[in-house]
Amino acid sequence: MRHTRAHTKNRRSHHALTAPSMAVCSNCSAQHRPHHMCLECGFYKGRQVMDLKAQKDAREARMQAKREAIRGEEQSVDTSEAETVSAAEPQAEKDSK
Ligand SMILES: [Zn+2]
Repeated sequence: MRHTRAHTKNRRSHHALTAPSMAVCSNCSAQHRPHHMCLECGFYKGRQVMDLKAQKDAREARMQAKREAIRGEEQSVDTSEAETVSAAEPQAEKDSK
């Protein structure tokens, strides 16, 4: 059944979003969610609970290994397949040529 405009607007009067409240990290003074670990430095309540730098470094190493593996494949695979790989990653093709 059709609602009046006023009925619809009254219902939607509670739909507004509020900005999340943020706390300031005691270690690096970045903003983070209250009662949550700081996503910049991995500190919570003044102590390190997660080594985010080590995780980031491990991720970088993983990605670098993957990039090199893809580059190695491009050189070994014939041209028709190499085009499909390079179409997904246009920058990788520039580096290889
Ligand atoms: Zn922090």
